[in-house]
Amino acid sequence: MPTSTHRDEGYIKFSFAHEAAPAPAHPRLHDLMRIRDDLHEWELIGVLPDGIGYGNVSARIAGTPRFVITGSGTGLKFPIAAEHFCEVVSFDVAKNSVVCRGPLPASSESMSHGAIYAARSDAGAVIHIHDRVMFRLLNQEGAPQTPADAAFGTPEMALAVGRLAATLPPVACLVMAGHEDGILAFAPDPRSARNALWDVYARSRRE
Ligand SMILES: [Zn+2]
Repeated sequence: MPTSTHRDEGYIKFSFAHEAAPAPAHPRLHDLMRIRDDLHEWELIGVLPDGIGYGNVSARIAGTPRFVITGSGTGLKFPIAAEHFCEVVSFDVAKNSVVCRGPLPASSESMSHGAIYAARSDAGAVIHIHDRVMFRLLNQEGAPQTPADAAFGTPEMALAVGRLAATLPPVACLVMAGHEDGILAFAPDPRSARNALWDVYARSRRE
């Protein structure tokens, strides 16, 4: 069973403009798919008992602020496929809105991914997972975290994520304190972001 049973209340008015299009192409898409399926097996990405999906993986389209990300409502998909991804073409943190294209729209969590890409030109991949045991461990260790009053799905959360990410090393994990059980990892490439999470995961299951 997933260790996270938290569901965020009051999804604020996230909005998206979605253009239906074929699955996005990206040189790292296959890497991203394999990593996403690993995370799904560890139950760090999936679906809560009430059917709400959690977690997503993304990779920057090199040299642009755009990125490909697992689409909305794909938590149950296994194995993941290219058509479960979409491209975020642009986003506006203040308006809490994204423009996306692909077979599926982007989820509200894509805002936090975008905030990291905007804050750090060296960030090439972002992973967002939910896990209560890892969340607790990182809190105990004093890991970097966004303010507790920045709530999930708000512009404040995306702004806080961007501000915090800018102060961290090129490969890092951060805790989304106002998004219970929520953790973000970023790195120049998907493997390094995955390895950073794996390190926390392994320690959390040992202690
Ligand atoms: Zn989340």
